[in-house]
Amino acid sequence: MQLPADYHMHTPLCRHAAGEPLDYARRAVEIGLTEIGFSDHSPMERDDFDDWRMADRQLDEYVAKVRFAQQTFPQLTIRLGLEVDYLPGQEEWIRQLAARHPWDYFIGSVHYVSDSWDIDNPGKLSEWKKRDPFEVWSAYFVRLTQAANSRLFQIIGHADLPKKFGIRPVEDCRPLYESFINAVAQAGCAVELNTAGLRKDCREIYPCPELLELARLKQVPITFGSDAHAPGEVGLNFSEALALARRVGYTESCRFHRRHYESRGF
Ligand SMILES: [Zn+2]
Ligand SMILES: [Zn+2]
Repeated sequence: MQLPADYHMHTPLCRHAAGEPLDYARRAVEIGLTEIGFSDHSPMERDDFDDWRMADRQLDEYVAKVRFAQQTFPQLTIRLGLEVDYLPGQEEWIRQLAARHPWDYFIGSVHYVSDSWDIDNPGKLSEWKKRDPFEVWSAYFVRLTQAANSRLFQIIGHADLPKKFGIRPVEDCRPLYESFINAVAQAGCAVELNTAGLRKDCREIYPCPELLELARLKQVPITFGSDAHAPGEVGLNFSEALALARRVGYTESCRFHRRHYESRGF
């Protein structure tokens, strides 16, 4: 069985991950992956925006670290990506980032539903108590749909991140999923199966089966990502992710090189 590429992993530059790209690459070889991609948290226009990403001046250092891993492990295909935060109004900044290096892909992720609330931040868990979960999910999916419509991204990351802490709305979220998936299908981007959800309170891969089934129905391509913040997390729970993908009818995932994709069976 050919394992799909793990396209979501971080580096210590984001200030909340451990291990150098070399360590992640070594682990990938150990567990039999043939392709990985780094996608550390992108810099924001303002370095003081928050404290969980690389500074703008570190972008070249990040690329150099990934290049060094590529040279050290020639038997492993290593892609150069970024996990880019989508906030409305950031489009021009994201375009500038895109022009600075020959990226293989950008993962577009929504963590912020407002300029000050990153909904997955454990330090801001109390914010959830002040809000109606459905309101948060709605705001999140509006932004995620905008992210897809922006056409700035090859992949949309952890598409139902608001479930992270296990706080879920009682309302039917299907209409939110549908508008999002329609936008993704129109834009021609891929959706990521992110296994980090299994390690969080929600105990479920992002996205949920219902959302993934809609993606499959619209023939939206998929990628796989462990969202590793430590070398030991590379490729973690890929067998569960593969089983989920197969269950909803997927037989291939996509690979990116310089923002172009090709599919590979699994
Ligand atoms: Zn992170
Ligand atoms: Zn993320």
